Amino acid sequence: MKIQNTKPILLTIILLMIIPGCNQSKIDVYQRLIHHANSVKVINTHEHQRHPKDLGYNKSNFWTLLNHSYLMSDFISAGGTFYNANQIDTISLNQFWEKNGDFLNYAANTSYYQHFIKGINICYGLSETNFTKEGIEQLSFQIEKNYNNYDEWFNECFQKANFETMLIDQFWDNHNLDVNNKYFTLIFPVNKLVYDAAPAKLVYTDKDKHFQKFIQYSGTDKLNTIDDYLAFVDFMLQSAMEKGAVGLKNSMAYGRSIDYEDVSYDKAKVLFEQSPQLAPEEKKALEDFVFHWILEKAAEYNLPIQIHTGYLAGNGNQLDNGQPVKLNNLFLQHPDTKFDLFHGGFPWTGEFTALGKMFPNVYLDLVWLPQISKQRALVTFNEILDCVPYNKILWGGDCQFIEESVGSLEFGKQVLCEVLAKRISKGQLTEENAKRIITAVLRDNAKSLFDI
Ligand SMILES: [Zn+2]
Repeated sequence: MKIQNTKPILLTIILLMIIPGCNQSKIDVYQRLIHHANSVKVINTHEHQRHPKDLGYNKSNFWTLLNHSYLMSDFISAGGTFYNANQIDTISLNQFWEKNGDFLNYAANTSYYQHFIKGINICYGLSETNFTKEGIEQLSFQIEKNYNNYDEWFNECFQKANFETMLIDQFWDNHNLDVNNKYFTLIFPVNKLVYDAAPAKLVYTDKDKHFQKFIQYSGTDKLNTIDDYLAFVDFMLQSAMEKGAVGLKNSMAYGRSIDYEDVSYDKAKVLFEQSPQLAPEEKKALEDFVFHWILEKAAEYNLPIQIHTGYLAGNGNQLDNGQPVKLNNLFLQHPDTKFDLFHGGFPWTGEFTALGKMFPNVYLDLVWLPQISKQRALVTFNEILDCVPYNKILWGGDCQFIEESVGSLEFGKQVLCEVLAKRISKGQLTEENAKRIITAVLRDNAKSLFDI
């Protein structure tokens, strides 16, 4: 009787000794992986960094940063009112907080809020879990000071986060081919070239500096035929390459559905001649033709194309515009073009993963997903590891200012390391392989795909 009674007690004691040990070793593995991730010089596949001067700000503070952050859409979603960041010159921080503080607090649970505060904490050496009225006052003082010497501040944060380069999409100035190569690598957005096909004859005049160069280069001063227009598109792609572009970008889901039907050259030729008097479906057909044509050029010039899929930033748009499966025909028709699919296709993360599994030319980019939903990023990264070889997984930030990019990288690292540490603890992966995967996702895969 005595012996039987002591058995459960002994077992409990042994378990109590083992379980904390297990947890401790899991934490240790996670910390070692984070330490490794911090040592990787990151090649960030996607950013929209803006200089505060270009945004027209005389002064920056917490509210100007918020205005250009993703958190702004949760603030609006909570019921807050959009404000013009230039108002900060006329309204006190106190008044701003009185009017907006509640809506900011309602968003304290979201990944947008959490990665934003994470970036602020890292860059400013803080350990806040919530923004408060007093905290924002102190922070705004620091932000204003740092932004007075923005170039130095940007460099400090960039180095602290251990970025090597950011692939930049200057969507606000589509045909701007100039970037600061110390920090950025050019990605050429093709949206405008696709959209402009229909009214091309009206859009491109000799006032456009690129069109002027095209006239000198080709001797063609009018875009009368589809061939003239395609020659111009080709000229722009070559100009971008001369300026160091390593890839193309399509974010057309913000304006239309990403299904691109196969339109014949003969049909496109007639439509171009009829433009700009085209019905909406005819305009779409002409755009579809031009995009297919660009995809062929992308293969010829070895320029991978990044495509926005899934959820759309901001408040109010057509969610299903960017459903990843709509791209399926492109992967079949253009096997030599390399596609870098963005954002985990959220909320269609399963579709996104399946496409990466099916096609050797389809790469899966976690860009922005950890900031949209960290939980979904954890599930998706784990599912991708089940389905897709790790040389096809990439990471990017997708932010307008440096503090938010730093917070995004931290979230990205946490997602990678949490999933990988769990796999190690279950005996499914060695620590050595986990470290290889981290280096691949944060650096090597982008280096190889974009030939950097
Ligand atoms: Zn973007």
